[in-house]
Amino acid sequence: MKYVGAHVSTSGGVENAPVNAHSIGAKAFALFTKNQRQWVVKPLEERNIFAFKENIRQYHYSPDHILPHDSYLINLGHPEKEGLDKSRKAFLDEMQRCEQLGLNRLNFHPGSHLKKISEADCLKRISESVNLVLNKTSGVSAVIENTAGQGTNLGYTFEQIRVIIEGVDDKNRVGVCFDTCHAYTAGYDIKTKEGYEETFKQFDEIIGLSYLKGMHLNDSKKPLDSHVDRHDNLGAGWLGLDVFKRIMNDPRFDGIPMILETPDDSKWAGEIRTLYSFVLKKPD
Ligand SMILES: [Zn+2]
Ligand SMILES: [Zn+2]
Repeated sequence: MKYVGAHVSTSGGVENAPVNAHSIGAKAFALFTKNQRQWVVKPLEERNIFAFKENIRQYHYSPDHILPHDSYLINLGHPEKEGLDKSRKAFLDEMQRCEQLGLNRLNFHPGSHLKKISEADCLKRISESVNLVLNKTSGVSAVIENTAGQGTNLGYTFEQIRVIIEGVDDKNRVGVCFDTCHAYTAGYDIKTKEGYEETFKQFDEIIGLSYLKGMHLNDSKKPLDSHVDRHDNLGAGWLGLDVFKRIMNDPRFDGIPMILETPDDSKWAGEIRTLYSFVLKKPD
């Protein structure tokens, strides 16, 4: 069974996310547990936590299908001490927010070397950051998102993600989120049937499909191998719809949250319906 949803708004309080997800027919959702463009925000209040859990129950969402996303400011591979410490502190705060909300995974962009340290050193720092934060929390997995490789962002190859995972002590609490737009612009040609098969074969061989804890379903405004991160609505960009038809009929992606991060949120309800319409009906 596929669990498709979108990265919904928490405007007015974190407890509004499940309500917003329900209103667009989502079976999964993503959210920011704090303002994603600020370093420090006030802690979650008891009443918000209670209302969030109540709403999850009311609208029948399982934590297994909720994929919170961390702040864009965090760089767990930061080359400088100040930036690294700040990032680790903020990431710990986000993991603790997930704990408070009863969630079990937090999606993050691995980090950037900013041309000040080597790729290998940056990947090592990312693993160390994850270890530090996992040691101080429980029950929440750190979910590495593959990137487009824009600027000095790492995590755009499966090999780099493998290296980060190898450096994490608790393999049970690290996972991967596969973003279709990022993979395509990083050079994985998931648009064609052959490219799709080859990409997920490589994913399994290099990382292991057992690490897959979520997906981001986005079309791309930029072409293959452009290393630019610009999402588009489904069918409007370079990827087209075939890849999403394949994904919706691929049992390897059953049971994980599959999240739209497409730019026009007025289209989400329709995109979710379209995706479910791709699921081939089994003959009676
Ligand atoms: Zn994404
Ligand atoms: Zn992106």
